[in-house]
Amino acid sequence: MHYFKYKGNILYAEDIPINVLVEQYGTPLYIYSAKTLRRHLKAYTDSLKALPHIICYAVKANSNAAILRLLGSMGAGADVVSGGELYRALRAGIPAGKIVYAGVGKRDDEIEYALRKRILMFNVESIEELENINHIAGKIKKTAPVALRINPDIDPETHPYISTGLKKNKFGIPIETALEFYKQAKQMKHIRVVGIHKHIGSQITKVNPFVDALERILILVEHLKQEGIHINYLDIGGGLGIRYNDEEPPHPKELAKQIIPLLKKHDLTLVVEPGRSIVGNAGILVTRVLYTKAGFDRKFIIVDAGMNDLMRPSLYNAFHQILPVKKKRGKKVFADVVGPICETGDFLAKGRELPDVRRNDFLAVMSAGAYGFSMSSNYNSRPRPAEVLVDGNMHYLIRERETYRDLVRGEKIPDTLKE
Ligand SMILES: *Cc1c(COP(=O)(O)O)cnc(C)c1O
Repeated sequence: MHYFKYKGNILYAEDIPINVLVEQYGTPLYIYSAKTLRRHLKAYTDSLKALPHIICYAVKANSNAAILRLLGSMGAGADVVSGGELYRALRAGIPAGKIVYAGVGKRDDEIEYALRKRILMFNVESIEELENINHIAGKIKKTAPVALRINPDIDPETHPYISTGLKKNKFGIPIETALEFYKQAKQMKHIRVVGIHKHIGSQITKVNPFVDALERILILVEHLKQEGIHINYLDIGGGLGIRYNDEEPPHPKELAKQIIPLLKKHDLTLVVEPGRSIVGNAGILVTRVLYTKAGFDRKFIIVDAGMNDLMRPSLYNAFHQILPVKKKRGKKVFADVVGPICETGDFLAKGRELPDVRRNDFLAVMSAGAYGFSMSSNYNSRPRPAEVLVDGNMHYLIRERETYRDLVRGEKIPDTLKE
């Protein structure tokens, strides 16, 4: 559910017509709905209130400072996967004690930074990484709180690029060897074992994979207990899907209903790491039609947003609904909606039935709040879009549109080439 709706013929973001925003801020433009963000976070908080829990929002889904601040002010923590994301989360006011840090390739400087800031825990992905964290913690006289990320070998039944909990994926520690690794971790002088972590993938539209993975993890938790290893945090990761087209993903309530009974008898704080399900449907990308043309066997609608602004269609062949900002009567066309980038893979939609839009009409690419701006780039030297947050009848610029000057910031011409 979100707050991008037609009133009459015009698409609104909450109480503001999108064409008003586009006139003020230009295109391409990311627009987020504060009410939707609050509603989505609250869906988790309400569903999980029977258990001690922390909701660690996955910063990589959308790392804008205003969005982090909004979620943080409602009590969310953060799941980060780099030093840069940790910096962003802390700067937005999220307490270090609610930040977890995952990722297969943590660098020494990033580990040291997280140790000095005293994050809640590292979600460790290999034995070498664990040894390295132990070493760095010793060097700077700290103790590192860790959870081991377990690969439970569960098929999340999602796109192969976003499935992470299968044996063949690079993530986590195989569940068969986990007990051994925990025993080793317990022996390490500068490591404090506090948790267990798993994250099996993204855009998961069924409850079953979550339940199956959790059952496997809980068996491991029992084995750990028998070995005298007691953990405090059970982190089940993120991955709950959203509706892009006709998917019917479970509500956090349904997920909670299934997992709470499994956890009741354990004395654990649950950690969840939702990203997409918080921010995905809370954002849209609005683009201007530049040209239309008839191709050999199809029509092309050429717009001013490209794969550098929203990479998901090119990267995963992902579906995003496309709506006209102003509804049009009359005939429909079948068209590919393509960007200005010099790549065949640069499209936002293919073979889509759309109103017969013209130059200077506006289209809204829906469900673009997650893995939209955060995956954007400057490819083809295109300044990245502005971002706007709407809250009721108020709107706020939360990231300026980049300028040409921003494109070359930090670039230097060697003196010898200046002569
Ligand atoms: C990407 C990621 C998430 C968030 O996944 P969503 O599908 O956006 O909910 C959570 N935890 C980890 C470790 C991740 O890598």
